[in-house]
Amino acid sequence: MAEIIIPTDNTLILPSDDRTREVPSIVTDDELTLRKFQLLPEEHPILKKEPLPWIFGENPDPQRMRLIMLENMVAHNGLGLSANQIGMPVKVFSMYVTNEEGIVCFNPKITRESNEKVIMKEGCLSFPELYLNISRPQMIEATYQNADGDEINVHLEDLAARIFHHEMDHMIGTTFLDRVSKVRLQSARKKQKILLRKRKRDGRAS
Ligand SMILES: [Zn+2]
Repeated sequence: MAEIIIPTDNTLILPSDDRTREVPSIVTDDELTLRKFQLLPEEHPILKKEPLPWIFGENPDPQRMRLIMLENMVAHNGLGLSANQIGMPVKVFSMYVTNEEGIVCFNPKITRESNEKVIMKEGCLSFPELYLNISRPQMIEATYQNADGDEINVHLEDLAARIFHHEMDHMIGTTFLDRVSKVRLQSARKKQKILLRKRKRDGRAS
């Protein structure tokens, strides 16, 4: 079984900052222009329902699914993207494990997480311009299937652990909203409104 060890010196990159990221090398420019799926609005019921397991041999071509997930993560400028966010209610997500390398996880599971937690501001593609301080484990161990159906074990730390952990919320039909108090959410929503208004004024597309 392959094991990917992620170094601990990941720099923090928020979804609004893409300067240090590169498109994963397996995605060509041609492919990128082909299949951009719309992000579902935050209130869409698909986002609030536990997605179905990916069944190899029954669901469509997993290699194609892998490309679609990587392409859309890049096209939407995210650090991670779950299939249900673009309308496919299955347990699949893509994420950056380093600034250059993207992976796609089918049927992911967290097997161990550190007691040490880290609080960090994060965003989510389903909630544009909403940033919340979320506590997540500094380290996780996880397992998932790659597009060939092989089981992969990973040890992830810091930002990579955070992204995996964030996407796992989507894998049970929850989001980072469920991890903060009402008061904190209200305050972040106010800031979000201001940022969205500014975005509209600047004429930036979402
Ligand atoms: Zn998210």
